[in-house]
Amino acid sequence: MRTGRSPIRVLVIGGGIGGLCLAQGLRQAGVDVQVYERDESADGRRQGYRLRISPEGEAALLACLPAPLARLLAATANTRDDSGLVAYDEQLVEQWAPHFDDPRAGLDDKIDAVDRVTLRRILLAGLDEVVHFGKNFQRLERTADGRVTAYFEDGTEAAGDVLVAADGTNSRVRAQLRPQDVPQDLGIRTIFSRIPRAEAIAAGLPPALQDRFSYVIGTDGHHLGLMPMLFRERPSQAAARLWPQARLVDSDDYYMSVFNVHQQDLGIGDEEFFALSGEELCALVVDRTKAWHPDLREIFAFALPETTFAVPLRATRPVRAWETGPVVPLGDAVHAMPPSGGVGANTAVRDAQALSGLLAAVDRGERELAGAVAEYQEAMVGYATEGVEMSLRIAQWSIKTAEA
Ligand SMILES: Cc1cc2nc3c(=O)[nH]c(=O)nc-3n(C[C@H](O)[C@H](O)[C@H](O)COP(=O)(O)OP(=O)(O)OC[C@H]3O[C@@H](n4cnc5c(N)ncnc54)[C@H](O)[C@@H]3O)c2cc1C
Repeated sequence: MRTGRSPIRVLVIGGGIGGLCLAQGLRQAGVDVQVYERDESADGRRQGYRLRISPEGEAALLACLPAPLARLLAATANTRDDSGLVAYDEQLVEQWAPHFDDPRAGLDDKIDAVDRVTLRRILLAGLDEVVHFGKNFQRLERTADGRVTAYFEDGTEAAGDVLVAADGTNSRVRAQLRPQDVPQDLGIRTIFSRIPRAEAIAAGLPPALQDRFSYVIGTDGHHLGLMPMLFRERPSQAAARLWPQARLVDSDDYYMSVFNVHQQDLGIGDEEFFALSGEELCALVVDRTKAWHPDLREIFAFALPETTFAVPLRATRPVRAWETGPVVPLGDAVHAMPPSGGVGANTAVRDAQALSGLLAAVDRGERELAGAVAEYQEAMVGYATEGVEMSLRIAQWSIKTAEA
């Protein structure tokens, strides 16, 4: 074991959920960290809406965030108990209602789902001097002294002892170092949207669909998910009480809706599909559900076109450790998975908790970097593989049911 402090500088490429959670954890441990994010600002792109948080994800977020921010996250989380879902066929006949064990079920401050924009702003709180927006990573170079330099498209560069690849499913760091590890396309296209809750209820959304995670498996191969996000407390009000500098934006309660369709059933190629506008995507879903139960047909009629977008579903198989050098992978960059299980972000924050603890030990001079990175990756490959397989089982379960 080494003795004496050996301060390190950690460069994080990507200020998404995993990269920011890592930065919070490292800051709490007193480690020098700098985050480089491609977007120009915190609101730079469509990031999706509601995120399910698992008990493991909750524990990791609470461990990485300073106590007032952890309380702010709990105060703005979803109020409803999300430990189960109800699956229906397209005529709204209940098929399955599994319940998942959760040791924290029923607690007032339990975090089972959060609004993604609120989470990102909480993860950014207190990091103004650490997060650099508008930094599009281009490539890296390892130097003879074992350090690493990152180069950005604006012509700037940054050097550090460790570089964490937290740049998501299309990771450029991975493309440079591990081009063979590209996530597989699962052949499913997903249309996400946001539906204001009050309007949907006023327009007659049936009570059975109002407060639970509902999942509809059409015998035609299409699937529709509807997930409520009911804020426990208005974000701006909770921030004023707990962390006034946090720039939280209020939002009405809403549903995140998710519509899955097989690429081969679309009748158009990817280029044409991904160029469709929000209005056209909403119209596509309304058309594909026209033979469904009238209460389900109505759902996408409430969707806001400007919040509607499509993504391809992908998965990394197998999940593999990278070389145990100064470049360390985290989150979707190393273990992309379909959102079917609600596991990807939870796995990314679990990575952040594990890696921040080990890098803090390196910084204190208690561990060698290579050993710490190997320990992190061994554990990560294990639980991330389970996460990918579980997400695929859920996706395949619904596909098989549809084909039966
Ligand atoms: C609609 C949707 C719903 C989901 N729901 C859930 C859920 O309920 N629960 C769950 O656990 N998971 C869910 N997921 C998955 C989850 O969003 C991801 O697993 C999670 O965001 C991964 O975190 P990350 O930090 O690895 O990547 P990201 O959050 O994608 O962050 C990557 C960051 O890197 C930045 N970046 C990319 N390239 C560069 C570059 N060249 N230079 C600098 N920066 C770069 C990006 O701008 C981004 O900010 C969902 C995904 C989607 C699409």
